[in-house]
Amino acid sequence: MPLSSRSSSKADVSPEQGCVWFVGAGPGHPDLITVRGLDRLARAECLVYDALVPHALLDNAPEGAERIPVPRHVDDADPGGTTGRLLADLAARGRKVVRLKGGDPSVFGRLAEELQPVRDAGIPFEIVPGVTALLAGAAAAGVPLTNRSTSSHITIVTGHEADEKETTLDLAALSSLQGTLGVYMGIGQASRWASQLLAAGHPDTTPVTIVSRCSWPDQRIATTTLGGCAEEVMSRKWPSPAVIIVGDVAKAAEHRPARPLAGRRVLLTRPAGQADDLAVAIAMLGGESLHIPLLHIRPPTSWEPLDHAILQAGSFDWIVFASVHGVQSFVARLRTARLDARALGTARLAAIGAATAGALDAAGLECDLQARPPSSEGMVESLLPTMRAGRVLLIRADRGREVMRRELEAAGHEVTEVAAYASRPITGLDEAAHTHLDASPIDWMTVTSGAIAESAAALFGERMRSWRIASISPVTSAVLRRLGHPPHCEAVDASAAGLAEAIAQWESSHRPA
Ligand code: SAH
Repeated sequence: MPLSSRSSSKADVSPEQGCVWFVGAGPGHPDLITVRGLDRLARAECLVYDALVPHALLDNAPEGAERIPVPRHVDDADPGGTTGRLLADLAARGRKVVRLKGGDPSVFGRLAEELQPVRDAGIPFEIVPGVTALLAGAAAAGVPLTNRSTSSHITIVTGHEADEKETTLDLAALSSLQGTLGVYMGIGQASRWASQLLAAGHPDTTPVTIVSRCSWPDQRIATTTLGGCAEEVMSRKWPSPAVIIVGDVAKAAEHRPARPLAGRRVLLTRPAGQADDLAVAIAMLGGESLHIPLLHIRPPTSWEPLDHAILQAGSFDWIVFASVHGVQSFVARLRTARLDARALGTARLAAIGAATAGALDAAGLECDLQARPPSSEGMVESLLPTMRAGRVLLIRADRGREVMRRELEAAGHEVTEVAAYASRPITGLDEAAHTHLDASPIDWMTVTSGAIAESAAALFGERMRSWRIASISPVTSAVLRRLGHPPHCEAVDASAAGLAEAIAQWESSHRPA
């Protein structure tokens, strides 16, 4: 569907006029924003955003747009007002301002305060709704928020009284109606609001579902009871943000179909931006994942060799891509040189792995050959029968295995190898990573390359012994064995789905009868 300003007349402000678009970013995952929200982001000249919003979304604003983070509780004496005046000032200078807020802008988002100065200044504005935490949390937990026989209304409350106005929330009055309660900001004071609800007559067996960090890679879900939830929140140190669903409907979360990875927490170690497929595959099998990248991807020390190879690209028989990053970097440099697919002439394109072939496809380039099996050895085997004394360009990371160059040269081909990116092990974990790791036990660690295996062994050492290890391929498994951490399972198909499937298979065959 083409994105069009016709989707809302309010987007049609004149080109010179400033305006403010309040956009709901959704709960966390960048694909949970609305199409309209993305459209407004793409038009932003200035982006004012909360700490809670997914940073990947910021990339949807034009590169030249000014980005202004708003720290939480900037000015607690005047919450929202300071930000509102900033928005009004920016728009008064003729700029199109996106105010990106977590979830929905109008739910516990200080929208009223931010809106006032904008209204007072007569600046045009629009509110683009977002998926609020309660809706996202219920969906993630498989909880229908209403039910014809047990819940005919939904109430959203804050569990953090101090944050709100003078009068205390009358939970007793709310309890007289049969319905569903969504508690926001409820982690810190769980025992207070839970005991108020109990005192108001809610049975202590009332089902409660807690969804922490909904749609983030470390999302966690648990079902308990009103009587047990304060203890649950304290003992398992549920990380914020979390939304809590109280009421009969919450018990549905317990009836999610038993999936092979239910209750399993899987550590994903791929570089940033490359773990989404795996997180989805694990979630589809009922598992939870935590992403801690163990490799950094950086530009190569020099673009010279890649740029030079791109200028001669048409003279090669084959251009071989070893990874998704290689494709992306190659295509980006092609565009920097203001070239396109024509620069590749008659060169044929080969890829190791379905994801790499997919990256070529996404760039509008046809993959002529995929390595079978998807490894450097498989590439050599697949390429050799196609040519005699050919010229091959290998696009790869700055470090890694030498198999392809060695064996292709041994077979009489001329090989040019260029680094399209640098990959470096991460040598230390930040505080957030430590907190996530300690929050609840890890069942599995996925290892998707030899370099990641080495980085993991250096970083985690003995700690890895308490985790089961899933390896993506025989080559990666060999590295793991050499490091003294033999894998518990290995993907048959070297892909995200294949890796998740291998873990599921292991779990099924080790489940107590
Ligand atoms: N405007 C936001 C709410 C902001 S208040 C919305 O509509 O969702 C912050 C509270 O929202 C948190 O304390 C938590 O209760 C809830 N919340 C926000 N993001 C969440 C997430 N990803 N998972 C669970 N709860 C979340």
